[in-house]
Amino acid sequence: MLTIKAAREIVREHTPAPWIKERRLLEAGGLYLAERIVAPEPLPGIDNSAMDGYAVALPEDASVDKPIKLKVIGESRAGMHWREPLAAGTAIQISTGAPVPEGADRVIPVEDTTRDDDQVWLKTIGREHDHIRFAGREVQAGDVIAEERVKLTPPVVAWLAGFGIDRVKVFNAPRVSLISTGEELVDINQTLKPGQVRNTNRIFLESLLAEEGLEPAYCRHVPDSLEATSKALDEAVRVSDLVVTVGGVSVGPHDHVKAAAEQVGFRPHFWRVEQKPGKPLYFATRDGTLLFGLPGNPVSVVMTSLVYVYPTLKRLLGAPDPELRTLAGRFDQPVENLDSGRAKLFLVSITGYHHHTAQLLPGGPQQSHMLSTVTNSDGFIIVPGEKTAIEEKDTFTVNLFPWAEIRGTSPQRKRADSG
Ligand code: AMP
Ligand code: MG
Repeated sequence: MLTIKAAREIVREHTPAPWIKERRLLEAGGLYLAERIVAPEPLPGIDNSAMDGYAVALPEDASVDKPIKLKVIGESRAGMHWREPLAAGTAIQISTGAPVPEGADRVIPVEDTTRDDDQVWLKTIGREHDHIRFAGREVQAGDVIAEERVKLTPPVVAWLAGFGIDRVKVFNAPRVSLISTGEELVDINQTLKPGQVRNTNRIFLESLLAEEGLEPAYCRHVPDSLEATSKALDEAVRVSDLVVTVGGVSVGPHDHVKAAAEQVGFRPHFWRVEQKPGKPLYFATRDGTLLFGLPGNPVSVVMTSLVYVYPTLKRLLGAPDPELRTLAGRFDQPVENLDSGRAKLFLVSITGYHHHTAQLLPGGPQQSHMLSTVTNSDGFIIVPGEKTAIEEKDTFTVNLFPWAEIRGTSPQRKRADSG
């Protein structure tokens, strides 16, 4: 049977490069840039004031020791700026952000002045260049303002918009389809009859996609029948870069996903990985479309989604760092009586940090139907198959859930909060 590493490698080999599309900037939020962008103009575009006050041209003999009175000849404010150069001995009233005219070499903040009709008294003269934001100080024309593969987060979108950039090349969002299988499953808003189960996996997968700003291109629930499964797969593959099925991939007489996939032309790459939970994981491709057949137990779905589907999704999105974030972690107490055999995807919660190492506790009972353990965890470690106990000195790489809160991700922050 394949190891987790080998299986992930196969998935990676078959993951196509993301495709590039030009889009309106305002419709590209959440996607990743497929080009490096340089500034078409400097920022700021012209010298402007950092304060409300007076832009001044001091007389030749100005000094700190004697009071200075200047003639106020006008005003520069938002949208109505003063265009004439200032002669020595004059000033203009100026607002934050308004252009500083030629001849003015500093801005005196309003609180350091006294106004007297068309004159202004300066209480200080400051220093040359005080409170002026010079043109090109933040960025010069031609400077790189966004690297390729930067995510178009709200500030990045605003930053680019500030340069008048209207269209950008981005990695196009992958089209993802979800198919759940199983006669026992019902929609979440239904009252359960004996033996029925709410379709929580579909909700999990839709929510995971939503976190990446994606909606399924095609989403179906099918009964345990070969025809229904084949039909759904065939419909899904036409509109998808990635198809994810849940359930029906094991060895039971009602598990049809593999046969259905092969019937509609998918080429299988692997079935079964040496891992617990999630052993029956299935992976196939048809043309450029990838298919993950996830086993149906809710914890298996979460784990196989995070180990295989999530990094694939991030690669298809063009993310620079598609893997889960990690931290080093250690258990506060030994953990005993682990199963031997397959590698264990072991759920952990982080209780604190000690010398930059996360302190871990098991997230709860590690059984593949117990979603409560996932909700009580911050991530998971991979415990090698042969290892049946964890000792306090053992250090693990903790794979953090993409949704883990700060508690699980920032030792710095945690320390600062606790004083
Ligand atoms: P299967 O992989 O189809 O054999 O399903 C394994 C277990 O997971 C069974 O107990 C199913 O009822 C449960 N299960 C399968 N699919 C879902 C789903 N979409 N939501 C919740 N539970 C599921
Ligand atoms: Mg089933």
